[in-house]
Order: sequence, then structure tokens, then C-alpha cells
Amino acid sequence: MIIQDAEFGEVVVRKNPLSKSVRFSVAPSGRLQMSVPQHTSDFLVKRFLNSNRALIREKIPLSDPKTQRARDAKKKILIKKAREYLPYRLEYYAQLYGYHYERCRLSHAATRWGSCSSNGTISLNIGLMQVPEILRDYVILHELAHLNHMDHSEAFWAEVGQHDPKYKDHRRKLKAFSPGV
Ligand SMILES: [Zn+2]
Repeated sequence: MIIQDAEFGEVVVRKNPLSKSVRFSVAPSGRLQMSVPQHTSDFLVKRFLNSNRALIREKIPLSDPKTQRARDAKKKILIKKAREYLPYRLEYYAQLYGYHYERCRLSHAATRWGSCSSNGTISLNIGLMQVPEILRDYVILHELAHLNHMDHSEAFWAEVGQHDPKYKDHRRKLKAFSPGV
């Protein structure tokens, strides 16, 4: 559950059957997170929040709600762009080079640009919409090559190199970017 708070912005509330007390922490998104016992009412959640404001302000390194809102808005735009682009780009290269994958998923992972599972699902990070096209294509070709080689063996890199002869350069340049939004 997410509640809107005038001071802290969106607060992520997790009802936890194992929890006996209320705990405050920072969610991976940078928001304030509250872990409360399973049957805590919304009224009580808000009361806990109100009575702990001073402590939260002092102890918890939250991002500014304004920054958070800007980040959320940016993410929404990226998701839309990614949906309209990545599955089609993947399909384009799969057809061009004769690959067969099962499914394309969009991911929001903070540390990976893409992945390929043994059941043929290729995941592509929405953050790819923020990197130059040539690097984006490198990630797509990299994941497609994993359909034939589920490792980073010499044979794998040879296959990537067939479709992206400058892959070493692209791989290096991609390190200057971070997949997290
Ligand atoms: Zn890989």
C-alpha cells in the first residue's frame, strides 16, 4: 500500500505477518518505507507516521519528495518509450539474424541492461531508452546471442562479434551509463 504524505511524499507501507512493531526504512525507490504488523489499520499507520516525524526527519536519508515525483514522471515516460520501441527492435534483429525467442519483457532492474533466460525470455531494461542507439543495439544483440550460448564463452563473444563487430568498444562505452532510472 502507498499513502500520500504532505511532508514525505509517497510512503510505502508493508504489512508484515512476522512483524510485531513498526519499523521505518528507505525503500529501494528512495521513498520512506514502513513495515507494520499484518492487521494494523490505516488509521494507526497514519498515527505512527505522525508521531515519528521528528525521528524520521533526523534518522532516515530520504530523497526530497519533489525529486521523487520528478523521477516517477521520468520513469513513466521511459516505460512508454520503451514499450513502443524495444520489443520491435528486438523482433527486427531476431528476424534479420534468424533468432527465435519466446517473449520480450521490459525490466526496471537497477544493475542489468538485459538478460536472457533458458526458456527464451529476453528482458530489456527501460533505461536503454537513455543510451545511444548503437549501445542499445549492442545489448539486444548480446541477449539474442545468449539464445545460442547461455554463458560468456569465446563462442558467445564470437557470435556477438559477427553481428556487432565493434562490440568491445560498445561494451566499454555502456559502462559510462547506469541502467537505474
Ligand atoms: Zn550476457
